[in-house]
Amino acid sequence: AKSTGHNLYFVYENKMADNINAHLTLGGGLRKAIDEEEFVLHYQPKIRLPDEAVVGAEALIRWLHPELGMISPDQFIPLAEESGLILPLGEWVIRRACRQLQAWREAGYPPIKLSVNLSSRQFMQADLVDMVQRILQETGVDSEYLELELTESMLMADAQQSIEKLHGFRKLGLTLSIDDFGTGYSSLAYLKKFPIQTLKIDRSFIHDLGLDSDNDAIVKATVAMANSLNLKVIAEGVESRAQVDVLNSYKCQEVQGYLFSKPLCSHEFALYMDTHGFS
Ligand code: C2E
Ligand code: CA
Ligand code: CA
Ligand code: CA
Repeated sequence: AKSTGHNLYFVYENKMADNINAHLTLGGGLRKAIDEEEFVLHYQPKIRLPDEAVVGAEALIRWLHPELGMISPDQFIPLAEESGLILPLGEWVIRRACRQLQAWREAGYPPIKLSVNLSSRQFMQADLVDMVQRILQETGVDSEYLELELTESMLMADAQQSIEKLHGFRKLGLTLSIDDFGTGYSSLAYLKKFPIQTLKIDRSFIHDLGLDSDNDAIVKATVAMANSLNLKVIAEGVESRAQVDVLNSYKCQEVQGYLFSKPLCSHEFALYMDTHGFS
């Protein structure tokens, strides 16, 4: 249908109203949802190349809304950030992840590394390092099995303070990963100053693998750089065998994506480890 300017405006206005409604509905329910623990973590396997064993997982939060069903984090993490509720919610995520690590361990699974995502407001929280230390003690998790995924923009907001905080986590024994690598504005000089162990190449680069030679050159160079800096490098959003073949040829160490598995509930993840785990 041919749309006039007027129609476009109308559509836009309606969409805005929808967004505002969703905003109010979800935002209002968030506090209660935290109190009533309406959240779950799902776990997406991280696969080692070239043997394709499960060596880790990323914890990804979902909201099991009593009326609306499962809500994805992109829809409520921004609201939680705005309202400050990300602080209790973020603490819940870390505690839940650590308890899950212990539960798998007690069930006899070989130890895997579990990563959790931090949001920017949570990263700025003054007592974050102490809080993580408390949770590790309380749950008995060995810190080497917990990884934090941080974005470049979070680190660059206050680079000096970020460096101190990252050193605090390193002292605890955690590993630190830069998520969505390649999409931010950090310079290579900063990369040298931040005490990080893992680069996670953003899925936009993986999506274009084999389709665009400039893109391939960037991925190849990023993997080579990570390897020569002794950083672990992982590719996210891997959806095809062809992408795995290219990443193998570049000597990328780990992959994660729908080709191997979508994020799974804890029970499904345990079954996945039964069939794809290492021993
Ligand atoms: P992210 O950290 O970049 O997480 C990866 C997202 O890509 C996840 O979406 C995952 O389900 C999806 N994904 C995995 N494999 C594939 C694939 O092969 N193809 C494609 N197209 N997508 C794939 P999800 O779970 O909806 O999470 C979205 C974002 O929400 C995350 O992006 C992260 O920024 C945020 N998030 C998730 N959980 C948490 C959390 O506990 N705390 C905070 N602060 N943020 C979280
Ligand atoms: Ca992530
Ligand atoms: Ca990512
Ligand atoms: Ca992302």
